[in-house]
Amino acid sequence: MTKMKYCGNCKQYVTTTPGPSIIISIFLLILGIVPGIIYIIWASSRAGKCPMCGSKNWSIPLKEEEKKE
Ligand SMILES: [Zn+2]
Repeated sequence: MTKMKYCGNCKQYVTTTPGPSIIISIFLLILGIVPGIIYIIWASSRAGKCPMCGSKNWSIPLKEEEKKE
């Protein structure tokens, strides 16, 4: 599940980084609770960021950049 957001740093719409993968989470939890929890916390912390600059500087695009036909 990905979302498009407007990055204030990159000045463009980007697809936010995904959260923890359910498949990997289950796989790690089968191997052991600790690596599974560490992965979920790590993946959650890096989720929802700009893949270009890694920031969460979400903003509203300027009206000048919206092209009206
Ligand atoms: Zn960015």
